[in-house]
Amino acid sequence: MKSPKTTVRKLQVSLIVFLVTTFFIITLMPACSEKGPKNTEQQISDILGKMTLEEKVGQMAQITLDVIGKGDTAYTSYEPFELDTAKLRKAICDYKIGSVLNTSNNKAIGVTLWNKIVSEIQDYAINKTRMKIPVIYGIDAIHGNHYTAEATVFPQQIGLAATWNPELVRETARITAYETRASNISWNFAPVLDLGADPRFPRQFEGFGEDPYLCTILGVAMIEGYEGNDVSDKERVAACAKHYLGYAVPYSGKDRTPAVIPENYLREYHLPAFKAAVKAGVHTFMVNSGIINGIPVHSNSYIITDILKKELGFNGIVITDWNDIDNLYRRDKIAKDEKEAIKIAINAGIDMSMIPYKYESFCKNLTELVKEGEISENRIDDAVRRILRVKIALGLFNRPDTFVKDYPDFGSKKFASVALDAASESITLLKNKNGILPLKGNIKILVTGPNANSMRTLNGGWSYSWQGEKVELFTQKFNTFFEAIQDKFGMSNVTFVPGVSYIMDGKYFEEKEDKYSEAINKARSSDVIILCLGENSYTEKPGDLNDLSLSDLQLKLALDLAKAGKPVILVLNEGRPRTFSKIESYMSAVIQTYLPGDFGGDALAAVLKGDVNPSGRLPYTYPAYPNSTVVYYHKPSEEQTPIEGVYKYESDYNLQYTFGFGLSYTTFTYSNLSLSKSDLIYENDSLKVSVEVKNSGTLAGKEVVQLYTSDIIASVTPDSKRLRKFKKIFLNPGETKKIEFTLKPEDVAFVNTQNKLVAEPGAFTVTIANQQKEFRLNKN
Ligand code: BGC
Repeated sequence: MKSPKTTVRKLQVSLIVFLVTTFFIITLMPACSEKGPKNTEQQISDILGKMTLEEKVGQMAQITLDVIGKGDTAYTSYEPFELDTAKLRKAICDYKIGSVLNTSNNKAIGVTLWNKIVSEIQDYAINKTRMKIPVIYGIDAIHGNHYTAEATVFPQQIGLAATWNPELVRETARITAYETRASNISWNFAPVLDLGADPRFPRQFEGFGEDPYLCTILGVAMIEGYEGNDVSDKERVAACAKHYLGYAVPYSGKDRTPAVIPENYLREYHLPAFKAAVKAGVHTFMVNSGIINGIPVHSNSYIITDILKKELGFNGIVITDWNDIDNLYRRDKIAKDEKEAIKIAINAGIDMSMIPYKYESFCKNLTELVKEGEISENRIDDAVRRILRVKIALGLFNRPDTFVKDYPDFGSKKFASVALDAASESITLLKNKNGILPLKGNIKILVTGPNANSMRTLNGGWSYSWQGEKVELFTQKFNTFFEAIQDKFGMSNVTFVPGVSYIMDGKYFEEKEDKYSEAINKARSSDVIILCLGENSYTEKPGDLNDLSLSDLQLKLALDLAKAGKPVILVLNEGRPRTFSKIESYMSAVIQTYLPGDFGGDALAAVLKGDVNPSGRLPYTYPAYPNSTVVYYHKPSEEQTPIEGVYKYESDYNLQYTFGFGLSYTTFTYSNLSLSKSDLIYENDSLKVSVEVKNSGTLAGKEVVQLYTSDIIASVTPDSKRLRKFKKIFLNPGETKKIEFTLKPEDVAFVNTQNKLVAEPGAFTVTIANQQKEFRLNKN
């Protein structure tokens, strides 16, 4: 039973006071300390005091590398890339541009050339300008520094999320930072903290999946890996929390289309990971290219200035996404021209514009706007102060360049083994009928499907080029699924026939039959079929989709192969969960590999052979049908039992596999869930939850212990359950471990319709695997 309404209100008020106070202590403290020693602020003031308006405006501009490369246009450069000194002089010396981004010609560059390019740019900035302010160079090293040839490439973030292993995620980020600095680049546009709550969205693979808590824990781990304790360390880079805020859930499911998100939902689901990023000291933020509630986020001063800068106390750089000031007038029609768009965005709180081409008009317009009084000098000073703060924090004033020779571990075997571990731990076993896996004996294997022999599909978008279409140029030494399976199970035992192939130079996702009947014939003479289905590489708009189902041709291939009467192991290689319920029952096993990167082939082969016991768990709900894309923390009304009879309607919660699900080659048994008490008092109180987990099978393995709570009754319809804690553990056969978690009132709080975080008194359940207990949240 709940307390009477008035008491509830009093309790809510006192909890709010408590939470707000705690919020200020916890959130603002590191923000203040991030301002750094007083002399840093003094140094900034000294520099700022000497700068002209034009110099300040230049700092706020970011251009793409091809703009200053030798070539006939601003969009492509000659190969091999060379800086054009006239263009460089114009950008850096005349316009005082403060930042450069991206690779050249949409293709990875060698590490030595990277060093040369960035140090030449720095030479102009430092030795040929009056203020001698170093440039900050940014890159999308989102799953390893893939824009540098020979760097270590990890699984995409969605695969890292499936490891549920924050230490491993931190380590992949540390290595990425090292190899990015080896390339003389100090700023990484990662991690992606967007909530992957809609499987239709083409960028779901870039984030940590649908759960706000998992996203928060792994996001912080990644920031720690990129930035370390001291971002000026020559092995660390500035991270960028993106794409703030509410980017990945437009109602069409298509990139950069409008979303409708009420503020309490923005705060409940989307804000936590970004809030934790500020607390973790992240130095930069990138803004959502989309539109929320009719307002382009780049123009939303409430989201950028009031929430991020004032409420969360963020004092690093807020950068636009690609060309997004232009989008305010060209695409979104909230400004009549570029000048008005600049005024709106800078006044909303943008500090740096990723222009990326036409910087002359940006600089001219912004300077005029200040002179005309449309943008205050204070706003400009605030933006430049933030930019200088990050440049100083990175140590760029003392050491503008880093040199390859100081990075002996670049592209090393030890880094490769971490990438292999990450790929192996991400692989998620979703079905294993009659324990067909691991594969036993000396068997004949047919490997088939459009994803069976492609490094491009293993890597996905943002791999050696924007859309991943140039992957094969850089990955000759790595194994595709087929090559790795052949290595593992013997040349003479493994055959590859594509069956279906992607048309690589056609439209995205177009496919064709490719030795289709040969694949079916070969299936008859094989003992087992490994069918690799999924998607070709993509990101952003080119990845927009009209149908979440796997393609008709791939489904047909699956059904025809199944008719051969041999077990089919379905290997999924995809950036988002493409539905396949029509073929699921014909598959003997299902393995999700996500986009595992360069070592995905070897990782899969090790899992098939049993050298690796799979321990990945789904970071999202896998829907059964395109029209049942419901997250696991849905509302009760989304999980209704269909009523049989005249009107048998489809309103049940139809999922193929639930969030957090994943099988192992061993079994885990849970027992003795216990709570230190059944009442949790407000404020400083906490509750200990413990559970025993036993490896009840015969193989060593890793398990992810997941603690969920459910609020029984609340003033806002409660989510059916929410992940509150988790821990990945290793158990030998027969071994039992007692796992303990601590729950606090704020762990079960939610954002109410007044947009306040409240923990309402009443009953809650805590669930770990098949164990459940109840506790109450009381008044003081
Ligand atoms: C993407 C960002 C990326 C930026 C710079 C944009 O199109 O949305 O995620 O960081 O380009 O490459």
